[in-house]
Amino acid sequence: MKNVTDIFGTMVFNDSVMKARLPGEAYRQVQLSIKLGKGLDRSTADVVANAMKDWAIEKGATHFTHWFQPMTGITAEKHDSFIAPADGGRIIMEFSGKELIKGEPDASSFPTGGLRATFEARGYTAWDPTSYAFIKDDTLCIPTAFCSYGGEALDKKTPLLRSMEAINRQGMRVLRLFGNGDAGFVKTTCGPEQEYFLIDEDVFLRRPDLVYTGRTLFGAKPPKGQELGDHYYGMIKPRVAAFMAELDEELWKLGILAKTEHNEVAPAQHELAPVFMTTNIAADHNQITMELMQKIAKKHGMVCLLHEKPFAGVNGSGKHNNWSMTTGTGANLLEPGETPYENAQFLLMLCAVIQAVDDYQDMLRLSITSASNDLRLGADEAPPAVISVYVGEELEEILNAIERGEPYGGKEKELIKVGVHALPKLPKDTTDRNRTSPFAFTGNKFEFRMPGSSSSISGANVVINTAVAESLRQYANELELSDNFENDLHELIRRVIRKHKRIIFNGNGYGEEWLKEAERRGLLNLRTTPDCAHAYLEQKNVELFIRHSVYSEIELAARYKMKLDNYCKVLRIEAETMLHMLRRDILPAVSAYSAELANAAISKQELGIECSFEKDGAAHISRLISSCCDVARELDAAIADVSALPENYTRAVAGRDRLIPTMTRLRSLVDELEVHTSAEYWPMPTYGEILFSVN
Ligand code: ADP
Ligand code: MG
Repeated sequence: MKNVTDIFGTMVFNDSVMKARLPGEAYRQVQLSIKLGKGLDRSTADVVANAMKDWAIEKGATHFTHWFQPMTGITAEKHDSFIAPADGGRIIMEFSGKELIKGEPDASSFPTGGLRATFEARGYTAWDPTSYAFIKDDTLCIPTAFCSYGGEALDKKTPLLRSMEAINRQGMRVLRLFGNGDAGFVKTTCGPEQEYFLIDEDVFLRRPDLVYTGRTLFGAKPPKGQELGDHYYGMIKPRVAAFMAELDEELWKLGILAKTEHNEVAPAQHELAPVFMTTNIAADHNQITMELMQKIAKKHGMVCLLHEKPFAGVNGSGKHNNWSMTTGTGANLLEPGETPYENAQFLLMLCAVIQAVDDYQDMLRLSITSASNDLRLGADEAPPAVISVYVGEELEEILNAIERGEPYGGKEKELIKVGVHALPKLPKDTTDRNRTSPFAFTGNKFEFRMPGSSSSISGANVVINTAVAESLRQYANELELSDNFENDLHELIRRVIRKHKRIIFNGNGYGEEWLKEAERRGLLNLRTTPDCAHAYLEQKNVELFIRHSVYSEIELAARYKMKLDNYCKVLRIEAETMLHMLRRDILPAVSAYSAELANAAISKQELGIECSFEKDGAAHISRLISSCCDVARELDAAIADVSALPENYTRAVAGRDRLIPTMTRLRSLVDELEVHTSAEYWPMPTYGEILFSVN
């Protein structure tokens, strides 16, 4: 094992490299541009680009790329080499400030939601100096935002950066009211826990459903799954351990703080948690992490599945989004304080999050929605589609006491008045965490547990940041006018608790009971993507994003289109894949097997030998085959009908209501066939073979 401190960040053009390699003035300019978002002038950009190039070439790089995050959810890059022709047939290695700052990828095939007509198909990429350049595969990668020529965001990064600015603006207003104006800035932090499956590559390649859709569309329940819980935190198998060691090393080189690696609940399921970071950088890091997981798995003869629900009946994969707010002086704003004033500030921040989650339940649900995550939410191991906040019993009692103006505490019960009394020490015990809550306070941060494993964390954080910025804006507007701060603060907090406590739920989020209770409380239960997509167009949400300059109305409309478009496409690909597998592999195999059984039955019958297994088996399989054919024809018709619908939304609803139920029926017939078919005939690896394929 190499020395971690020696390799950490060696492939990153980070602050210390910049300090060492840039002339003082250029370094100062870059710092300003990072802190204030100011663009660099051309000559400074040239100096920075040249230093970057020299550094990258020393590290073996030959190419550079603007690395960006289009709406496909994965990252994109177009490599250019540094070479430029020189006299005498020679070449020189060149990289200009212009190339650093702006790129013009021919990006006409990325999803745009109608934001660009093809005649103006070019978008442009613009350097994000807040995220360091790095070297991957001998290529200098420049993190960039991706926009249309009109300046509309076509990516996941741009709105996230805008939302970071929004929370900074409003957060600072509130901090000033508490006398903390010297905190410098407010930013959010994020630590996304990444879950994934590792399976053997040979097994993967023999499953067209995994290849085409990332999940199994068929598969009978294996005799052993996750019921013994013997995989969770269990011994890590040698192949997986080798993978994790290499992954850690590659991530560390890129300055990514991979911290914990362990086995998850399902067989073949694992998790990686990084140390938290500034949210927009954490988002970049998570994208790199997902990419490296897939690449490194391949090197070890395995495939990394990032799909939210690769196996029915087995836990799916999420990406818990741990989130908090920090100041420029390093204070965590969700950390309960020592003094009454700190506590008052903490309570107001807590209220800001509670209100944000309640006011924008629909946007939060939408921010994590996809055809694949719809399969996971509410499926026993993941939170339901209803959003609620867990604050823990003690904190809830404190909030209740404040709201009702009642005493709180043990022996010497006290009336809690915000800003006057110190709160009792809040427990930060990790053991009593409620793991069924979609949005849980875990001592000094919130953990949003709904995001899926395959998607970018940007969307969720854009919503959390902006919605919390809006709560803070309202509080600042009110309190800035106050001439009795303590009193008005107390009243404000009471009012917020009263209005938004319906979103607080400390019980079991997985139970049926909660769904009924949530309905009584008037909370939203948006089960599927078509149910929640409309939130992009709701007036209150449009106003929110425009007010904080995070999305324009046009950008929201484009995202609405893209969301539904993607949903429709995924459903269609899955339906087509099912039919493909059924007709090319499954039906021929089971038909041959039933014929063999029938022939055996005839031979045995002639000899007067008992042949009920062969005869009944052949009959049962034949019946299932003909039912499969019927349902397959229905699915054909459903695909044709759904595809003919003219409009995204109606197509999405029809896809959900016609394709999915038909696919479910087809699947259960095929799974029944699997159980009754000889292993020799079954044309693809079973769940057992896939889930236990890595040793
Ligand atoms: P668990 O599995 O119990 O939820 P983990 O230790 O696996 O806990 O993950 C906790 C995650 O929370 C880590 O990624 C950690 O970096 C992150 N985290 C801790 N503090 C903060 C914070 N202030 N802001 C954002 N994320 C945080
Ligand atoms: Mg967690």
